[in-house]
Amino acid sequence: MDKSKRFFLKGAGALLAGMSAYQATRASEHSSPASQRKYALLHDENRCIGCDACTQACREVNQVPEGVSRLDIVRTGPHGEYPNQTYHFERQSCQHCENAPCVNVCPTGAAYKDPQTGIIKVDEWKCVGCLYCIAACPYKVRFIHPVTRAADKCDFCEQTRLSKGELPACVTSCPTQALVFGDLLDTQSGVYQLVRTQPVSRDKESLGTSPKLFKIRAAKGEVIL
Ligand code: SF4
Ligand code: SF4
Ligand code: SF4
Repeated sequence: MDKSKRFFLKGAGALLAGMSAYQATRASEHSSPASQRKYALLHDENRCIGCDACTQACREVNQVPEGVSRLDIVRTGPHGEYPNQTYHFERQSCQHCENAPCVNVCPTGAAYKDPQTGIIKVDEWKCVGCLYCIAACPYKVRFIHPVTRAADKCDFCEQTRLSKGELPACVTSCPTQALVFGDLLDTQSGVYQLVRTQPVSRDKESLGTSPKLFKIRAAKGEVIL
C-alpha cells in the first residue's frame, strides 16, 4: 500500500474501528497460556566465522532488498599481537525486547509484541512511517522497507519459516551451528538449556529492555593463519 492510501484509510476512521476489533480478536486467539511461547536466539561468537551465510539467507527468504538488512555480522579486530591475532564477529539484529521501546512509542499499534510468541512484530498496514520506533530503538536495527514503506526488522522469520514449522533461515544456513533458536519456556529447548549453563550476555541490559538475543562472547575469535 502506498503512503497516500495508508493515510486515507487512517483518516477515514473506519481503520481505527477495524484495528480495535482486530486487536481484540488477536488477543483472544492468543489468550491460552497453554500455547504461550517465548522465542529467543543465541549467537555463539566463538563458533562464528563471519561468513555472512546468515545475512544472505535472511535476505533471500524474507525478500529484503539491497541497501537495508535485518541482520548484520560486525567484524572487529584484529585483536592481540602477531602471530596470535584474532577477529571477533558480533551479530546485530532485533533483540525482541520484553520491554520494547519501539512498541512503547508507536502511535498506531503497528509495532507490537505477539502475546503468543513474544516476537516483536510490525503490522505494515498500520505503519504510517513516522520513524518514532526507529528513533526509540536503542539497538538501531529498524529501518524503513523501500518497497512497503513501513518499518521493518527481524521477525524471527515468523511468516516465512516459523509458520511452516521451520527454523529461521539464518539458523539453518549457518555452517558452524553458531545460532541456536528456541523457546525460553520449554525446558527441552536448546536455548533454555544454553542460557542456564553457558556464560551468556545481552546488549545494553542496563536499559531494562530485557532482550531475547543472547550472546556467548568471543573468547578467541577467528585465528588469522
Ligand atoms: S531491538 Fe529495537 S526493534 Fe527490536 S524489540 Fe528492541 S527496541 Fe524494538
Ligand atoms: S531470524 Fe529470520 S528475519 Fe531474523 S535475522 Fe534470522 S533470517 Fe532474518
Ligand atoms: S552463518 Fe554462522 S558462522 Fe557465518 S556469519 Fe552467520 S553466524 Fe557466523
